[in-house]
Amino acid sequence: MALAKTTNPKTMGPVGCANCPPPFGTRECHCRGCLQHFSTEGNFDRHRQKGKCLDPAKVGLLLKQRRANARVWVLPDERI
Ligand SMILES: [Zn+2]
Ligand SMILES: [Zn+2]
Repeated sequence: MALAKTTNPKTMGPVGCANCPPPFGTRECHCRGCLQHFSTEGNFDRHRQKGKCLDPAKVGLLLKQRRANARVWVLPDERI
C-alpha cells in the first residue's frame, strides 16, 4: 500500500485500517504504511525515521504474539 511520504501512517487503537483486523488496545499503535502493530506510540515512533518505515527488528523491537489474531512489536524488556 503506497502512501505519500508526508502522510503519517499512525493510527491509534481502537482505530485500525482497512487491511487489518480490529480491535487494537487503547495504547496500541498501528501503522498503515507497513501494516505492523506496536504496543505503544513510542514503539511506533522508533520505526518511523525521516518519514519512512524501518524494519522494526532493526530498531531493537521484538515481535510477540499478544492475542490470537495480533502480533505486536514490543521492547525486549516490555511486559505484554
Ligand atoms: Zn493495517
Ligand atoms: Zn510502518
